[in-house]
Amino acid sequence: DIENSAANAQAPAITKAGRAISVLANIGGPDDVAQALACGAEGVGLFRTEFLFQQSDALPSEEEQYQVYRDIAAAFGDKPVTIRSLDVGGDKPLVAYPMPAEENPFLGQRGVRLCLAHPELFATQLRAILRAHAEQPNIQLMIPMIATVDEVQQVKALLVQQCAQLGLSDTGLAVGIMIEVPAAVFNADALAKEVDFFSIGTNDLTQYVMAADRGNSAIAELVDYFQPAVIRAIAHTCEVANKAGISVSMCGEMAGDTKATEALLSLGLSKFSASAALLPALKETIRLS
Ligand code: PEP
Ligand code: MG
Repeated sequence: DIENSAANAQAPAITKAGRAISVLANIGGPDDVAQALACGAEGVGLFRTEFLFQQSDALPSEEEQYQVYRDIAAAFGDKPVTIRSLDVGGDKPLVAYPMPAEENPFLGQRGVRLCLAHPELFATQLRAILRAHAEQPNIQLMIPMIATVDEVQQVKALLVQQCAQLGLSDTGLAVGIMIEVPAAVFNADALAKEVDFFSIGTNDLTQYVMAADRGNSAIAELVDYFQPAVIRAIAHTCEVANKAGISVSMCGEMAGDTKATEALLSLGLSKFSASAALLPALKETIRLS
């Protein structure tokens, strides 16, 4: 019955062998918070911040962003809220920030590449996140489209700089990266030394490992996260993270696919983040695994 299923949604997800698995929500903004909590989210594994930048033809101010980040984090109490920095580019253009057209936007200046090329845009978001984190220590930062150690170091340097400007002594902010570019998989051991967590983005990882546009239905059989090459990329990422002692989660669509759950658990994945509506069934599948 309804009461029973609501109680089940809130209960933890523990495997038959006794492993406690974190089940988190992907959200796109404040409107998704209530449903995430009702569906039993143990926090937010991916907060896509693009909506703030796409909702109007002006860029969001630092204050506006700060309030959104703080309020969303407060709604989750002490549960973790993972804010992903702006992930736009040629494939997801911004009215408020016109960018030159690119011939291959998926291989172009998107995600962290765009942010590092436009530090004024990036610094505003980082400041908002640092200020929100000072009030809501459950906030953590996640960087999309990381391919190199140098990019991580540039982000960390910007954080230190913005922290100093804000008069905060030490950020204390956990910083993680998305693993969604093949270079990040191959270089995972070096990246693990630089960050607090990995989160595997199987939507882009599949596209880039298979060299197959995620939106092109003519090649749908290649855009498949069950392809052995993608599974091996995931396995390697989990292995490196677990050896290095950092947390590894998944926030791409595969995380919410219950046909994949058992395999992902056996690869050592311990955190899953998916759309709220998928969480109750995901928890149930974990309990039966
Ligand atoms: C991914 O690439 O798997 C992901 C979670 O990010 P997005 O779908 O927003 O690119
Ligand atoms: Mg992605």
